[in-house]
Parts: sequence; structure tokens; C-alpha cells
Amino acid sequence: MTTPPIFQAKGLSKVYRMGEVEVHALRGVDLELFAGEFVVILGPSGSGKSTLLNILGGLDAPTSGTVTFRDHTLTNATERELTQYRREHVGFVFQFYNLIPSLTAIENVALVTGLVEGAHGHVAADPKAILSLVGLGDRLDNFPAQLSGGEQQRVAIARAVAKRPDVLLCDEPTGALDVDTGKLVLEALRKANREFGTLTVVITHNASVAGMADRVLKLRDGQIVGDERNPHPIDPAEIVW
Ligand code: ADP
Ligand code: MG
Repeated sequence: MTTPPIFQAKGLSKVYRMGEVEVHALRGVDLELFAGEFVVILGPSGSGKSTLLNILGGLDAPTSGTVTFRDHTLTNATERELTQYRREHVGFVFQFYNLIPSLTAIENVALVTGLVEGAHGHVAADPKAILSLVGLGDRLDNFPAQLSGGEQQRVAIARAVAKRPDVLLCDEPTGALDVDTGKLVLEALRKANREFGTLTVVITHNASVAGMADRVLKLRDGQIVGDERNPHPIDPAEIVW
């Protein structure tokens, strides 16, 4: 690749200390991630996937090692700088959707675009257009309780993507969903990735999701044990679970 990476991680280690016990969640991870990539991170439970994602997203700091986002060294940043980094540059999608129950689908998305545009003059996507992109153009005025789990997750994706982040970090986004709705969620992520060129990182423990990725990272015991590019990613609908 000739373009510079968006993220560069060097020698990342994370040790959690619980009394006398040390848990080594990451052990010397080196990684570069590039614009536009759809990256799937695979690995068994406890292999360090969430720890890595949280460090990239500025939600957690490594015990040692460095992470740079473009020209910014996140590992030197103040809390205030990290807050700004997350708000302007990162979209998060978690296993549970964390929508505001008293707001409709479009209001949940518009809340975030309003915040981003108000604070920074940053141009966010149109909430209606982005909900249509993820297949919810006819559910704009539904409250979360009137939507299925997969639909709620697609609202959460629309909300994360609408602020036009540089990176979308997704931790087990289909973890709570059945196969068919999970595929719709992956389809929504893929569309957003292709439409906006957003670097998208998706954690899953389901190896069959790897087929739709541009690149597959494998984690085991806190180390990267596989990093492969996939020249012909399949459509999420074709995934055999
Ligand atoms: P994964 O997402 O692959 O399941 P995690 O990154 O969540 O793995 O966790 C990696 C290891 O670090 C696990 O052994 C986990 O128990 C431990 N761990 C994660 N977060 C904490 C924490 N806040 N305190 C103590 N140990 C933690
Ligand atoms: Mg995890």
C-alpha cells in the first residue's frame, strides 16, 4: 500500500491487574489499518479483541506501546483530546444498541448529527438518507420498542455512520441476533463502508463472517496470529453460517 495508514499500532500490550493476578490481554501487537478497508477480527473469547478495539477507539489505553491515528499519537493524548477524537473521528457499534427509547429512529440519528454539526461545523450525513441506506427508509418514525433487534442495530449503525467518522469500530454487532437479521446488519455495515469509504473494523467470533471482509485479522492469546487480504469478498447475503 502506498497510502499512509490511518492507524499505526506498535508493540501494544495490555495488562489488567486484579489484585495479585495479571491478565495479559494484548502481547506486543503491531498493526496498520488503511482507509476504506473492511476488516474482520476473529478470535476466541478472551483473545483480546475488545481490548484492541477499545484502544483504537480511545476508550482504553495500552500498558505499553503506541497508537497513532493519522498524525496524532493517541497514547500521548489527554482525556479531553481523546473525547474530541472519539466525537469527531470514531463511530462505535456495540452488541447492544443503546438507542434512546423515547426518540424515534430518525430522532436517534439526528441527535448525533446535530451534536457533531453544532460543535464542529463538520458536515454529517442526512439522517433520512442514511436510514434509507441501511434499509430503514420506511421505519423513520418508529420508536426502538417498535423495531426488531436487527432493525435497532441498523439504527445504531446509521447513527454511528451519520457523523461521517473516519473509522467505524464494531464489537460483536451481530452477537445478539439470529442469522438472517445478522446478515442484514452486516449488509448495512458493508453498504456504509462502500458508500463512505469508512475504515470499518468488525469483531466477531463467527469465522464465516470472514468471507465478506477485505482483510481478516486473527487474534489468539493477545497476539495477531493471522493477517490476510481477501481479493474477492463475498456479499454478506452469501455467507453460510
Ligand atoms: P475478547 O473481546 O477477545 O473476548 P477481551 O479483550 O475482552 O477479549 O479480554 C482479553 C482478556 O482480558 C480476557 O482474559 C479478559 O478477561 C481480560 N479483561 C478484559 N477486560 C478486563 C478488565 N477490565 N479487567 C480485567 N481483565 C480484563
Ligand atoms: Mg470482546
